[in-house]
Amino acid sequence: MSVLVFVEGLNGEVKKSSLEAASYGSQVAQQLGTTTTAIAIGDVQEAALAKLGEQGVSKVLYDGDSRLNQFIADAYVKVIAKAVQQENAKVLVFSNSNIGAAVGAKLAVRLNGSLATNVTALPTIDGGSFVVTRGVFSGKAFADVALTSDLKIVAIKKNSIDITSGGGSATVENFSADLADADFAVSPKETVMQDTNGGVLLPEAAIVVSGGRGLKGPENWHLVEDLAKELGAATACSKPVSDMDWRPHHEHVGQTGITVSPNLYIAIGISGAIQHLAGVNSSKVIVVINKDPEAPFFKAADYGIVGDAFEIVPKIIEAAKAL
Ligand code: FAD
Repeated sequence: MSVLVFVEGLNGEVKKSSLEAASYGSQVAQQLGTTTTAIAIGDVQEAALAKLGEQGVSKVLYDGDSRLNQFIADAYVKVIAKAVQQENAKVLVFSNSNIGAAVGAKLAVRLNGSLATNVTALPTIDGGSFVVTRGVFSGKAFADVALTSDLKIVAIKKNSIDITSGGGSATVENFSADLADADFAVSPKETVMQDTNGGVLLPEAAIVVSGGRGLKGPENWHLVEDLAKELGAATACSKPVSDMDWRPHHEHVGQTGITVSPNLYIAIGISGAIQHLAGVNSSKVIVVINKDPEAPFFKAADYGIVGDAFEIVPKIIEAAKAL
């Protein structure tokens, strides 16, 4: 019996969200008195996988089939299902990414497991009961949910679990689910990774600088871009901004856009509507710049600056340049 963690790679490295999932899995394994195995697919280097030992993973199964470099849900499900069976896994851990949420749901059906997405804390395990806490209503509330099937599947909300360190090195073993061409019957022709300033991908960015309708028009976006450049950040925007084509749609964050969980989210001229907050409220630190002291975003902010963005942001850019 083991705990199995699905690990996602990006440019050869393990994604931060998967390090969080591995840390979660290892702590659960410790509580259950068992070991943690990871299953990894596609674009990730062996050395990066071995380093998962730091998070307490003892063994990594790696399927390097290059057809899996692009996300194909049914093929991923086959690989992970085989790993669950081989390892006799009773707990399967994902990051609550698009891939994790999609594959987790399919695996729950296929393997008759109980699934909880958006999980924000370590479970309470008492005898046979396994209770997880998950965010609901766009992060406005939490629900405790008992997972009762033999196989418990959890998808961890980004930035909810601290990354642990101090373990050794994990062994990496080749793994194959012997996929046939039929498993790739529906597959994307090409995946284009959208990036913004300096190649910082929005969903993975540690710092995000985001602009709203308060910036008046696309001609003023140099304020967002220049600040992002100084901070090594990705740029983002509110929904109306992308609806008006001031910015591309892949930068829109919120309930109907991308969910981000950076260490620092800087919101400039954004009111903080609940639909916007739904996509950013798991950021570690939120800084809000808004000229209206009553703007709802200030209630979610760790730091707030009340004032005109056109006066304040250039000063912050100058200060960042001087660092
Ligand atoms: P506004 O609400 O117009 O706010 C502009 C802010 O800028 C104001 O607070 C103002 O005080 C401030 N401001 C103005 N001038 C300055 C200045 N010079 N300096 C500093 N501050 C200034 N929205 C999203 O963002 N993401 C979503 O995913 C999303 N999904 C939605 C889904 C549904 C079903 C619905 C109904 C709505 C959704 N919305 C979403 C829209 C959301 O409700 C808000 O309308 C939107 O977030 C407002 O965008 P904004 O803050 O940029 O603009």
